[in-house]
Amino acid sequence: MVDLVSQYQKIKSEIDKKVIEVMESSAYINGPEVKAFEKELADYLEVKHVIACANGTDALQVALMSLGLEPGDEVITSNFTFAATAEVIDLLKLKSVLVDVDPETFNINPKELEKAISPKTKAIIPVHLFGQCANMEAILEIAKKHDLAVIEDTAQAMGSDFTFSNGETKKAGTMGHLGCTSFFPSKNLGCFGDGGAIFTNNDDLAYRIRGIANHGMYERYYHDEIGVNSRLDSMQAAILRVKLPHLEQYNKARRWAANEYDKRFEGNPNISIPKRSENSTHVFHQYTLKIKNADRNLLQKYLTEKEIPAMIYYPVPLHQQKAYNRGAYADEQFPITMDLVEQVISLPMHSELSISQIEKISTNVLNFFNE
Ligand SMILES: *Cc1c(COP(=O)(O)O)cnc(C)c1O
Repeated sequence: MVDLVSQYQKIKSEIDKKVIEVMESSAYINGPEVKAFEKELADYLEVKHVIACANGTDALQVALMSLGLEPGDEVITSNFTFAATAEVIDLLKLKSVLVDVDPETFNINPKELEKAISPKTKAIIPVHLFGQCANMEAILEIAKKHDLAVIEDTAQAMGSDFTFSNGETKKAGTMGHLGCTSFFPSKNLGCFGDGGAIFTNNDDLAYRIRGIANHGMYERYYHDEIGVNSRLDSMQAAILRVKLPHLEQYNKARRWAANEYDKRFEGNPNISIPKRSENSTHVFHQYTLKIKNADRNLLQKYLTEKEIPAMIYYPVPLHQQKAYNRGAYADEQFPITMDLVEQVISLPMHSELSISQIEKISTNVLNFFNE
């Protein structure tokens, strides 16, 4: 699905040099590399604060903890996302409220979101799924009207731009009160292990988050609240500093690959190519097709036999997962998600795809329907 080795080979000398520097510096945790990376990422995103942490799931957890919510408070998120988004809500004894998505962009449907608001609702976590932003204009309006905090899960959309109707453009993760991302190796900006970060323009939240991620410690050895230990290693920060200047080019290469796939699939009655949303650029964390009037699982099996990886993101909606279901939901509440879990298939997508690979992959997809 991804080719991390080829990407590494192109920047190997720079990465190797930086990693050895960190090893020789002995500043393995919270060293100057982490501070420098936080500053460079903040500049790129045009956001005031970037707080690095251990992974994307921690980023979401610490972001939620910083809001000071009470047990039982409700947090609304998408039913069609990676489980981490909902997992942290329930882990903190808050209540996840799942909402259906848009059939074309796969992102949370603002109308359904507004319907799900109750007197206990305190926050919304929109997920920018597969590489394009949810409808943040509508979501921020709803949040303002109901006085809700917005935490963007931008683990899959690093570098994506959202343009508001007044013409203002902002980077994914910088529009809500808080933004959370992951540097898991296969993400658009990935390190060589686990990593994550939280973004905010709010000084108070930034201060709180730094403390929570460091054992609730604001002054050395004075613990004011229960926190966690969530840090980014200096080695990972050094690698991310080398990769960050390439992010725009990586995303451009993904967009090019997506357009090449599109050309080959366009007009095929069995295939629906990924819709580009009007207000957001697409950074193609995944290239996801919807398969119609054919068995998606058989297509996946066929491709596997031809040694072409293809993945189903996601085969089970969150409301059906044992951990989150609590008997509170019926399938009928999520008609779009229920269709998507049957229809979606993601093809190999990364910054190093060649035209011959795209040709081979798409020819095999098309052959499946012709056989
Ligand atoms: C990857 C991902 C996460 C979790 O990130 P980790 O670094 O693996 O903890 C959260 N949300 C979404 C949407 C993701 O894709």
